[in-house]
Amino acid sequence: MSLIERFAVLFGVPDFITPQMSFFVSEAEMDLVVRLNGQKRSVSEIATELKCSPSQAFDLLESSYAKAVLNKEKRQGEAVYFTADFYERLDYLCKFDEQYQTLDRELLRALEQWCYEVYAERMKPYLDQLQKKEAVERAPETFELIENLEELFNSVSKIRVVPCNCRKVAGHCGRPTETCLSFDDSITDRTQGRELTKDEALELVKVAHKKGLMHQVNSDWRTSGATYMCNCCSCCCYPTRLAQEKGSKGVFPVIQYVALQDEVKCTHCGACTKRCNFSAFFKGESDVEVNSQVRRKVEFDPEKCWGCGLCVDACPNKAIMMISC
Ligand code: SF4
Ligand code: SF4
Ligand code: SF4
Repeated sequence: MSLIERFAVLFGVPDFITPQMSFFVSEAEMDLVVRLNGQKRSVSEIATELKCSPSQAFDLLESSYAKAVLNKEKRQGEAVYFTADFYERLDYLCKFDEQYQTLDRELLRALEQWCYEVYAERMKPYLDQLQKKEAVERAPETFELIENLEELFNSVSKIRVVPCNCRKVAGHCGRPTETCLSFDDSITDRTQGRELTKDEALELVKVAHKKGLMHQVNSDWRTSGATYMCNCCSCCCYPTRLAQEKGSKGVFPVIQYVALQDEVKCTHCGACTKRCNFSAFFKGESDVEVNSQVRRKVEFDPEKCWGCGLCVDACPNKAIMMISC
């Protein structure tokens, strides 16, 4: 087997990528993965294997770790490195390498499809546990209302923003991508991106909100602390797409709120029908007369509501409020 073939097996590379391998990893990185051969190794062990100095081995291991070719953990107080996989490498590349978007369109499409399939496969046991109401290691996400986000930001001490991998890989909409926030202990030494002040984070979510992005957080943030906050569309967002595909709404994501339409204040202008990502507000079959004008009646289906709160400020008549489920 050639180096590329052995690497492809160890790194979980899909076949269609093999001709383009040099874009994704260097030969030195491929060689390193093949030498690790699924084992966990320290700097000194790799230095011996490569017949180089510990500092040269350290530089190679750390740069491979930073680029998500390798992962790292502590073994009896010492760092050991082991192979990541193509899925993790792709996540890094789409977020941080500007060259990624210059790849051939067909290839980008194939990568997005492959990436979503791997994500769905990896999420399956977790979704099954949630749907069977079994205990899970981490709380599922929920949509949080924008008015609660100041409280959330006040509950954390460190905030970093990194690009949204779903929109970077899927590219189904042109909405902002500098939108994924991580907090406190969830910020690792490999987390790239930018540190934000609380005011900057609040400004970021306001802009995201205006652009129609929904604010997704770990559902136990009030009791166990906030770990991340995503600002999601429904067309690219992997968790939202998966939840729609698997019908897991309610447990993944957890639904905390539902919109309530005030039939008296509503003038059936239709603004909320354009704002809602899930068609919970929609133009019905019948007409209504409003101020001597005939309009199509705007109706609301609470079963389709995910509780994101986006529709509230889209309504010019304050005819929508959010209530707890
Ligand atoms: S979950 Fe939402 S914000 Fe996070 S990466 Fe996906 S779409 Fe982007
Ligand atoms: S109707 Fe529900 S899902 Fe739609 S925008 Fe309003 S809160 Fe979000
Ligand atoms: S935006 Fe407000 S007023 Fe307009 S249709 Fe929706 S609920 Fe009614």
